[in-house]
Amino acid sequence: MSVTTLARTEVAHAPLDVLGADVTVPLVTGGEITYAALDYAASAPALKRVWDDVAAYAPYYGSVHRGAGYLSQLSTDLFEAARGTVAEFLDCRADDELIFTRSTTDSLNLLARAVPAGCQVYVFETEHHASLLPWQHTDVTYLDAPRTPADAVATLARALESRDTTAPALVCVTGASNVTGELWPVRDLAATAHAHGARIVLDAAQLAPHHPVSVRDLDVDWVAFSGHKLYAPFGAGVLAGRTDWLHAAQPYLAGGGASRKVSRAADGSVEVEWHENAARHEAGSPNVIGAYAIASACKALTEAGFDTLVARERHLIDKVRAGLADVPEVRVLSLFGDDAPRVGVLSFVVDGWNSSHFAAALSAEYGIGVRDGLFCAHPLVHHLLGATAPAAGECGEATSLNAIRVSFGAGTPDEHVERFVTAVRELVTQGA
Ligand code: PLP
Repeated sequence: MSVTTLARTEVAHAPLDVLGADVTVPLVTGGEITYAALDYAASAPALKRVWDDVAAYAPYYGSVHRGAGYLSQLSTDLFEAARGTVAEFLDCRADDELIFTRSTTDSLNLLARAVPAGCQVYVFETEHHASLLPWQHTDVTYLDAPRTPADAVATLARALESRDTTAPALVCVTGASNVTGELWPVRDLAATAHAHGARIVLDAAQLAPHHPVSVRDLDVDWVAFSGHKLYAPFGAGVLAGRTDWLHAAQPYLAGGGASRKVSRAADGSVEVEWHENAARHEAGSPNVIGAYAIASACKALTEAGFDTLVARERHLIDKVRAGLADVPEVRVLSLFGDDAPRVGVLSFVVDGWNSSHFAAALSAEYGIGVRDGLFCAHPLVHHLLGATAPAAGECGEATSLNAIRVSFGAGTPDEHVERFVTAVRELVTQGA
C-alpha cells in the first residue's frame, strides 16, 4: 500500500502502545486530565513492548564478554544479537562496525576523536549542538543556513570545491531538524561529499524514530542515533559505519574490554594492544539493557512498518498545520518553506506571548507537555527568528528569543494533537 493511500485511510489510534498513556496530571483550573506528551523530539515515551522485553530479560542480565557463567554468556549473546538487529534496522553494509554508545552526542564525539589528523570538517550552522560542537579541535568550516534543500547541496558543493583534496574530510549533517522537523537531502549531500573525496556522518537522532534509515541507500559513511528518542529510554545510543577510521583511532575510552593484551615492558612502561572491532571504543561494562532495549524498539518499529508510521505521522502533522493555519498570531518556523516534508516536529512563536509562558500555560491549563527554548540549536533558532543576540543560557533556558516546539510520534493519539490545537487557539484568543 502506498504512503498516500495509507494517509487517506488513517485511523485515529496510535499504531504502537507507549508507557504513560494513562498518566493523569492536575490542571490549574482544578481536576485532572490525561497527560499529552508532545515532546517526543526530546525523549519519546518507551514502547510498552520495549518495557516488557526489558522486564523479561532484566532478572537475568550479567556482565558481557567477561564471565564464564551462564548469565554472562546469555547477556553476551543478547548484547551481540542486539548489535546485529540494530545493524539490520539501519541496513548497514556487511563490513560496517556498530558501536553502542551513550547517545547521539556520545557517538558524534567518539567519531570526532577518531577523525584522521588534518581532517577538514564541514557542518551547517543549523545543526543541533551535538553535531555542531564536537569538531572544534579539527579544521572545521561552518556553512551558512541554506534556504532550500537544493541550496544545502549547492552550499556544500561550493565549500568542498575549494578544499585541499590531499587532506581527509568529513561532512556532518542531520537527517531531520530537531527544530523545524524538516527533512534534509541526505542522499544528495552524501553524493556531493563523496564526489569531492569527503565522507559523511548522518545525525539520525530525529530521523530514525520517524523514517527508515538505510546506510546503504543513503550512502552515508556513518550514522548516529539515540535510544531514548527511539522509544527505548535506557541511556544507550549507536554509532555505525566504516571501520577504517574507527580502528585506526585511539580508543574513545581507555580501559577493560577495549584492550586485547596489556603487559609490562622491559622499561617498566605498560604496553597495550587494543581491539580492532567495536570493543575498541566500548571500554568498561557496557549498557547491556540499553542495547537490548534499542534492539527491541528497532524490531517493534520494523514490525509496525514505516509505511504505516510515516503515514500516521503525516496525518498528525496535517492536523496540526490545518488547525493553526488560520491563526495569524502563530508563526511556524521553517527553513525550507511551509510545504517542505517534515517529521512530527514543529516549532513556532506566538505574537504577543513569551514562548516560555505559553508552554507553561499549555502544561498548567491543558496538561500538554511541549518544549520551549532554543532546543540546543542556538544558531538555527536565532537564524529563524531573525535574531543574532547570544542566548542567555544553554539548551532550554528561557529568553525572549526562544520558541515553542511540539513533537509527536508512534504513540500519539489524535486527541493529543486536537487538544493542542484547541489549546493554542484558546490561549491566543485569551491573550498573554
Ligand atoms: N541530534 C539531534 C538532531 C537531536 O535532536 C539531539 C537531541 O535532541 C541530539 C543530536 C542529541 O541527542 P542526545 O541528547 O540523545 O545525545
